[in-house]
Amino acid sequence: MTLHVQPRDFHQPVSPEACPALVLNADYRPLSYYPLSLWSWQDAIKAVFLDRVNIVSVYDRAVSSPSFSMLLPSVVSLKTYVKPSRIPAFTRFNVFLRDRFTCQYCGAREDLTFDHVIPRSKGGLTTWDNVVAACSPCNLRKGDRLPIEVEMFPAQRPFAPTVNDLHMNGRLFPPNYLHESWVDYLYWDSELEP
Ligand SMILES: [Zn+2]
Repeated sequence: MTLHVQPRDFHQPVSPEACPALVLNADYRPLSYYPLSLWSWQDAIKAVFLDRVNIVSVYDRAVSSPSFSMLLPSVVSLKTYVKPSRIPAFTRFNVFLRDRFTCQYCGAREDLTFDHVIPRSKGGLTTWDNVVAACSPCNLRKGDRLPIEVEMFPAQRPFAPTVNDLHMNGRLFPPNYLHESWVDYLYWDSELEP
């Protein structure tokens, strides 16, 4: 890829803090989807100077010092392939995404919290297979009791999702912020997988 550096005007309202770089693996797939692999502009530039990444695309936003000026990378790719992890990170967002932002007890889509299916007080762990999305009223109703005691069972048995599981739901709930230069790298490959 060629990096075209053009003269910048002096009007640059966008803060560099609002310009993260999407990090692709050496095969041009995101290093991670959930969470999406993003680096701050500082980390992206550092990696460029350490010769660890190629610049694939840039923002219309330059940073400069007395000795140099460059456009902030919007997409970079690693020069060395890294084996991606198979299991998505256990995060609040990913639990919501697995459960499609839907209360697992009543189907509500608002006022969502998390419920431990087996309550913590009864030895339940904070893990993929014991935490589900639940609305506040259901959470309150279930309280500190076992599903069998209150006859409240999750719509689907909680499980550790694969990246593909989250992909299918991720299409329904795209992230709030996607730079235009990222889109080509985010969604084409999942359609090609069996
Ligand atoms: Zn509910």
